[in-house]
Amino acid sequence: MTISLPNLPFEKNALDPHISERTIEFHYGKHHNTYVDNLNKFIEGTDLAGQDLETIIKKTSKDASKTAIFNNAAQVWNHSFYWNCIKPGGGGAPSGAIAKKIDSDFGSYEKFTEEFKNAGVTQFGSGWAWLVLKEGRLEIIKTLNADTPLAHDIKPVLTVDVWEHAYYLDYQNRRPDYLGAFITHLINWDFANSQMK
Ligand code: MN
Repeated sequence: MTISLPNLPFEKNALDPHISERTIEFHYGKHHNTYVDNLNKFIEGTDLAGQDLETIIKKTSKDASKTAIFNNAAQVWNHSFYWNCIKPGGGGAPSGAIAKKIDSDFGSYEKFTEEFKNAGVTQFGSGWAWLVLKEGRLEIIKTLNADTPLAHDIKPVLTVDVWEHAYYLDYQNRRPDYLGAFITHLINWDFANSQMK
């Protein structure tokens, strides 16, 4: 069994103009795909071959000799999660259980958007901003490079990729504009709601 690249949950041009087909072609077709290929290469013939992705992440996250495996495995997982976090016609205020939980844990949807955007803007260099469930509360965290809440036993609910490859073709250096479009037009709240259980 090898780790495979999951299908995208939308057409490559479906997020245009907020994320272009060209960005998806590079981000999914090249970057995500390369993490999958590298991971399979690194685990071939080792005791990690045949294990599922989450097991590989957990088994390598605290082992300095396995950083390359961890980085590729975590990036495969993070990207698959990210594609599920966005959809055409998404964004705006949520409904359902997560709407109430956002109000109680952040004060308001507006406060949530402010904190989430700020986490993405202030992640220095490459990484991710996350909405997570931690001890029953929704919180916003950010991770550097490939790091993932899974490696810290924290439950991810929503993520945004803030590596430059996620937005540079469409927004160049304007990361805040990408985050604004992500929040207003792309978040798949149905998926986020499904992660609350
Ligand atoms: Mn990425």
